[in-house]
Amino acid sequence: DMTHAHAGPTLIPPPDHLTVPQFLFDSLYRHVTHPRRLANTPCLIDDDTGQKVFFEELRERTRSIATAINFHWNLGEGQIATIISPNHIDYGPCVWAVHRVGGIVSTLGPMLTAGEFVYQFQIATPSIIFVHSDCLSSVLQAAAVVGVPSDHIIIIDTAGTSGPPGFRNLCDLIDAAPSLPPFKERELKDGEAKTKVAFLAPSSGTTGTQKLVAISHYNVISIVIQSATFNRINEAYAPVQERRFRLGDVCCGFLPLSHIYGLVYNLHFMIYAGLTLVLTPKFQFEKFLASIERYRITHLTLVPPQAVLLCKHPIVKRYDLSSVRYCIVAAAPLSATLTEELLEVLPNVQLGQGYGLTETCGTVGMFPLTQNVGTLGSGGQLLPGTFAKVVKPDGTLAKELEVGELYVKGGQVALGYYGNEKATKETFINGWLKTGDQVYFRDKDIFVIERIKELIKVKGLQVPPAELEGHLLTHPSVADAAVVGVPDEYSGELPLAFIVLKPDLVAATADKSALRASIFQHVADVKSKHKWLTGGIQFTDAIPRNPSGKILRRILRERVNNTQASG
Ligand code: AMP
Repeated sequence: DMTHAHAGPTLIPPPDHLTVPQFLFDSLYRHVTHPRRLANTPCLIDDDTGQKVFFEELRERTRSIATAINFHWNLGEGQIATIISPNHIDYGPCVWAVHRVGGIVSTLGPMLTAGEFVYQFQIATPSIIFVHSDCLSSVLQAAAVVGVPSDHIIIIDTAGTSGPPGFRNLCDLIDAAPSLPPFKERELKDGEAKTKVAFLAPSSGTTGTQKLVAISHYNVISIVIQSATFNRINEAYAPVQERRFRLGDVCCGFLPLSHIYGLVYNLHFMIYAGLTLVLTPKFQFEKFLASIERYRITHLTLVPPQAVLLCKHPIVKRYDLSSVRYCIVAAAPLSATLTEELLEVLPNVQLGQGYGLTETCGTVGMFPLTQNVGTLGSGGQLLPGTFAKVVKPDGTLAKELEVGELYVKGGQVALGYYGNEKATKETFINGWLKTGDQVYFRDKDIFVIERIKELIKVKGLQVPPAELEGHLLTHPSVADAAVVGVPDEYSGELPLAFIVLKPDLVAATADKSALRASIFQHVADVKSKHKWLTGGIQFTDAIPRNPSGKILRRILRERVNNTQASG
């Protein structure tokens, strides 16, 4: 086929007639190699309390929640339920319950501010909200703005009298479910999983502010089977000792379940693969090391900041990390140097990167089974059933080693942006996803050079510059603004703002430090912490733009590099 230049291994087509929970819990496809897990191996462990949840219990909790949300709120076909919580053992059951009654789950970060919730709720207004009590106050403010009544809010982490008064809580709902009439399971016709939306996941895409990526049931099932096939977990191809994923292995689970990496690769894939996921609500480095020891964690799913800590932090030496056999770093680039340093801390560990986007359900490529250590600097190799082409600026296809924009195709490519036809058309083109990433291929390895899209990534989390720029313009002293990412060893990038002051202020204020503080605070007041201008604030005479008005970010980034180089 000459329409694409690169293809992953062949894939047996995944099922397209199942919902995500049917696939995970009920179908013939589940845990093909692991019939024994049901009774013996927990699916989840709560890192804080040590509570274990087994397969049957997870399925039962899901059914009870489905019964309750169907009975009390008549939640059903096509309605949206939003879940806002740090990692919690009932996160999965809430998600799968919504799927079982035919609803759509939107996953929003627990650290968002009230204003950010309002923005998201206006794109996709929830019929019910599952919320952790830690996030309740900002969620309540936002719910009031968009008119979600407070009796449509379910607290997921407290029971009975210990919960905030006036709200339903999940434990009581689960306890009372057996006396309610059963819900009607949403069944799918052949092929229907390909169009039925399962998740709405936030991403800014290539431009502008946040959008919601519409992910189908088939997308999730496909990416799980693609990752499983890539790692040959359903084949008795090798003795148990030689397998990368084994029944009873234990994976760390601090990646937020609200981000695609945690949601898909940790929660769905690891459970499918027969592993136990240790769910951690809040990442703390020392606790993380202690948990590796306590639970004999075998699999690490990291973003680059943890890789940096593992390499540089002196306390690492005090912990026994010998249980670890596999470590994947994804969501942002891991340099060759850092990979080598990490190998010194984790010798004999299978180590490499994964590369993907929310728009591809998390993964395009990862380091293959044939490599104990992924090719240094590579984002990995294409998953089975994944096709890629690299398009040069002149529109022609790049050859090996030539740089261009990556386009991908495959079962994991999402349906589009929810309620945003324009952005969908610009990004999802004839079945190909335009990634906004500049890459080249060397043999089978994908090397991600740079982002063409506007996105800034702080600790693997998205910071859309257009969102900050729009907000900065509402500051009384700001005439124009542009935000770029500046390199940072720990966070990957930090947001830095170039600010053009209103003309009368330029001459009048000799000391700019108060202005700088006020602009910083203007962002900190209403935006989540990873969006704060921790990369700095620089005043400038004009923002460079091309003739059509697009900010020339490359010029601004170079300006930052030059000032840093010259001290
Ligand atoms: P998100 O949708 O938040 O997962 O962000 C997706 C973007 O993260 C990609 O388009 C890349 O720009 C970046 N990214 C993810 N993984 C990697 C990686 N291994 N190396 C370089 N960039 C990455």
